[in-house]
Amino acid sequence: MVVGIIGGGASGMAAALRAAENPDCQVLLLERQARVGRKLQATGNGRCNLTNLHALEGGYHGDDPAFSRTALEQLSPEKTREWFLKLGLLTVAEPSGRVYPFSDQANSVVDVLRFALEKPNITLKTGCEVQKIRREAEGFRIETDSEAISCDRLIIACGGLAGTKLGGSMSGYKLLRSLGHSCTRLRPTLVQVKTDWPGVSALKGVRAECRAEVYRDDTLWSESAGEIQFTEYGLSGPVIFEVSRDVCQGKGDWQCRLDLLPQISERQLEKMLLARRETKLNAGELFTGILHNRLGRVLVQEIGIGLNMPIAQLPETAVARAAASAKCFSVHLTEPLGMDSAQVTAGGVVTEEFDGTTMESRLVPGLYACGEVLDVDGDCGGYNLQWAWSSGSLAGQNAGRGE
Ligand SMILES: Cc1cc2nc3c(=O)[nH]c(=O)nc-3n(C[C@H](O)[C@H](O)[C@H](O)COP(=O)(O)OP(=O)(O)OC[C@H]3O[C@@H](n4cnc5c(N)ncnc54)[C@H](O)[C@@H]3O)c2cc1C
Repeated sequence: MVVGIIGGGASGMAAALRAAENPDCQVLLLERQARVGRKLQATGNGRCNLTNLHALEGGYHGDDPAFSRTALEQLSPEKTREWFLKLGLLTVAEPSGRVYPFSDQANSVVDVLRFALEKPNITLKTGCEVQKIRREAEGFRIETDSEAISCDRLIIACGGLAGTKLGGSMSGYKLLRSLGHSCTRLRPTLVQVKTDWPGVSALKGVRAECRAEVYRDDTLWSESAGEIQFTEYGLSGPVIFEVSRDVCQGKGDWQCRLDLLPQISERQLEKMLLARRETKLNAGELFTGILHNRLGRVLVQEIGIGLNMPIAQLPETAVARAAASAKCFSVHLTEPLGMDSAQVTAGGVVTEEFDGTTMESRLVPGLYACGEVLDVDGDCGGYNLQWAWSSGSLAGQNAGRGE
């Protein structure tokens, strides 16, 4: 029996290794880029956050978040770590639950997968883009630029549209549509969000630990805590990625309210700042030792205080306003960056059309799909790769099983 797999990314490699556990199964893995795991290599800022120990507790989205359940239970985060250990990869879990390779290099993850693919019953073809798929009386006919190949069962593991420069494309959606499947609306997620607040450019490169709450027309939309990074025209970092899902996707006034000092109360902060009225410091130093210097100065300017004004001359009300603005700093959001910059695609091929216990299509017997091409996306912090490993493994196990 031949199992064809289109896409040599995270889910496609997991599927190939799992299917090849059946020695009677010949696996053909087709990847359009020059090498497998190109996107994987860029994940986690080159460190690859390969799973999250809390991934079984939730954190997945899509029209039917429960669809991911069976796959995640069959290959849980702990089992994923054991599987990688068998492949030769040591991993380490951070207190937050994020798991990284011990080497701290995404390359290590790609390497152990690449080595594992070197099996007698796996054929890997890189630089091989699948253009068309046709159903045959028995199985499928896959057409690439240069050849046509037949297989008995077929797994679509083409990934999503996000991260276009790293290989994200419409290909998987188009191939599945050509076989009768449908797709929900695609949106970028885990992505930077732009603001029209002119002060942001002065903060380019500044990072801070904060709580972020996104409001649409004064109604809380999403919230998170963690690191924010200011960029030339927007907000970035894990805390923003977390609240970026569907932000600015509808009309309304979108605001991000930042608590830049979540560990202390506004009253405590106000007391600390009032004590500085005993010093000879200027207002530009009001937040020195408390916040990043540039962030502190921008906050002071935003409430209309000159940086050179002696703190001793600041009225109590001005100090109170400064404390309030650090605890609730509001930034107007305009739009998320596009698919090029997004880590993940929200939306995808309709999961109702697949059996979540096998990953097989309910419309086309013998056809399977896994990974980001499906309408499943996870939170920031290793959830998306865990979905890729779990869904790929389940698809491979079922596509590769004997009759
Ligand atoms: C910059 C960045 C950082 C990220 N960091 C993390 C992280 O730290 N942790 C985390 O959990 N998630 C992270 N993600 C998300 C994660 O990488 C993806 O969700 C995951 O790789 C999806 O796996 P996949 O197998 O579905 O798709 P992919 O890994 O994208 O693989 C799909 C493969 O299919 C190939 N392909 C597509 N069409 C065809 C075709 N027609 N013929 C042949 N081959 C084809 C593509 O070239 C690609 O190699 C990150 C994403 C980005 C862009």
